[in-house]
Amino acid sequence: MVQLKDKTFEVLLPHLEIGRRVRALAEQINQDYQEKCPLFVAVLNGSFMFAADLLKNIDIPCEITFVKLTSYEGTQRSNTLTQLVGLREGIAGRHVIIIEDIVDSGITIEQVLADVKQKNPQSVRVATLLLKPEALEKPVAPEYVGFEIANKFVVGYGLDYDGLGRNLPDIYALKAD
Ligand code: 5GP
Ligand code: MG
Repeated sequence: MVQLKDKTFEVLLPHLEIGRRVRALAEQINQDYQEKCPLFVAVLNGSFMFAADLLKNIDIPCEITFVKLTSYEGTQRSNTLTQLVGLREGIAGRHVIIIEDIVDSGITIEQVLADVKQKNPQSVRVATLLLKPEALEKPVAPEYVGFEIANKFVVGYGLDYDGLGRNLPDIYALKAD
């Protein structure tokens, strides 16, 4: 168990299991993208550990770049928009693989996809370490999913609670009290 500020978390996915699954995803991508020199676009901060471990197991020619998301409020409080910042590489004509830590409601990845597609890539797919099927509100279907998990708040392996916990090698879920 681990305590972060006022919350207690318990192990959900141990690092050995994460490692095995990440290697399997990389193997699948190696097969799917032979001769395609994919451009990985990792969405910071949460995906940094997943991106590093995934890329160590990619053995075909590829490139990686990193983006951040900035949120800004629309005119109504409900329509907060997200925009990609930091994408300098030309992605027109490229085979793009977006790397995300987690897809929850799907709102974020839907906006990231729209942003990337506007730049005319040849293809776009999403690799997400975690997916919460019960929380999905948008019709997004990531092609590469590490683990489907229950609708619980998780930390570790890049994911944070109020800035803390990104360094943990295992993934933890909020403990019900
Ligand atoms: P969505 O837009 O799909 O609802 O949420 C995506 C973003 O919300 C993720 O990139 C992540 O930053 C954050 N998020 C969603 N669920 C969790 C969670 O269980 N733990 C953490 N640490 N962040 C989450
Ligand atoms: Mg994220």
